[in-house]
Amino acid sequence: MTVSLHQQVRVGAYVAKQTLLGRKKYPLVLFLEPLFRCNLACPGCGKIDYPAPILNKRLTVQECLDAVDECGAPVVAIPGGEPLIHKEIGEIVEGVVARKKFVSLCTNALLLEKKLHLFKPSPFLFFSVHLDGLEEEHDRAVDQKGTFEVAIKGIKAAQDAGFQVNVNATIFDNMTAEQVADYLDFATDLGVGISISPGYAYERAPDKEHFLSREKTKNLFRDVFKLAKARNRKWSLSHSTLFLDFLAGNQEYECTPWGSPTRNVFGWQKPCYLLGEGYVSSFKELMETTEWEKYGTGKYEKCSNCMAHCGYEPTAAMDAVKNPMKLFKLPDIFSIKTEGPMAPEIDLTKARSAEDHHERIVADEMDKIRREKEDAKARKKATTLIEKRDDKTVAA
Ligand code: SF4
Ligand code: SF4
Repeated sequence: MTVSLHQQVRVGAYVAKQTLLGRKKYPLVLFLEPLFRCNLACPGCGKIDYPAPILNKRLTVQECLDAVDECGAPVVAIPGGEPLIHKEIGEIVEGVVARKKFVSLCTNALLLEKKLHLFKPSPFLFFSVHLDGLEEEHDRAVDQKGTFEVAIKGIKAAQDAGFQVNVNATIFDNMTAEQVADYLDFATDLGVGISISPGYAYERAPDKEHFLSREKTKNLFRDVFKLAKARNRKWSLSHSTLFLDFLAGNQEYECTPWGSPTRNVFGWQKPCYLLGEGYVSSFKELMETTEWEKYGTGKYEKCSNCMAHCGYEPTAAMDAVKNPMKLFKLPDIFSIKTEGPMAPEIDLTKARSAEDHHERIVADEMDKIRREKEDAKARKKATTLIEKRDDKTVAA
């Protein structure tokens, strides 16, 4: 797999330390969303349909760095929205890298070439370019022609400037195993690492039709890994083989939602990057007040079809530290079982029903923005009155 040895050692040491300290719940990747505004409108995206006052909100540099310090995770993923739209993204990334955290700056790359000068190459920084397939599939997935070409140009410019680059793809059920394999061939030849995740049906995603169910996901990944063997290709996937083995239906994993906590313009999101069921103001509060036992596949209806990396990659990473022999048995993608019975599936019949929190959360946030504006106006008025009174006193 293509995660650098440097990163594997640092993250492995962090997990081993948490295990030795007897910590049962700890974060591995902080998802830091400094804004929701984007310059694309992909049909599968549930992040961009907020009212304009929410889309106009930004986390400040200080809020971002405080989140990184509070959380302590060794890896910080910066998705969005489109982070390159944030005017202070250079300072945010610089501050996180200075803390020796591995930064995955997610971008659709439309602005990458133009904004490269804001960043310095570092072993702690890589760009993670959103690329949902080859040209036709990607342009269709993001609903805009020409974006694939711009993204590839951005990737090459970043590579030429000495940056590490990954691509990340969300896999939908309208992709065949051959299309996924062709994409993995292409990205490997491009010299980038690849992160893939089965699409999760966001409750607010406008297009829910093409998300994968768990059964389809497992069969699709088995077919994809069969093609790796047939083509003799060791793709540069940036995942542990245990997570890939899980995608192929060979591991009976439960989700670890606290492994990837999320901080965005609402606060710290309960329970995970994919589900916004409530917000609190600190990481400590998130860890202590979230009813974790209520989330995960088999426990909650909204989690039923999820096999996403943000919930299950931390489970795989923690399993690798607890059971290193499992990793030795899976040295590479070719060793993943693609035939025969799968690991037992989680019973979904006892999952509690889905709850709707979205409208309340948006209404509360809009109310908060309105109050903040009124307070700012009142403060400005009071300052003007004081200044006028002072001017009169001086004149007298
Ligand atoms: S580029 Fe990413 S954030 Fe922007 S609309 Fe597409 S999926 Fe959403
Ligand atoms: S299974 Fe885990 S990662 Fe997936 S939606 Fe549920 S809590 Fe989030």
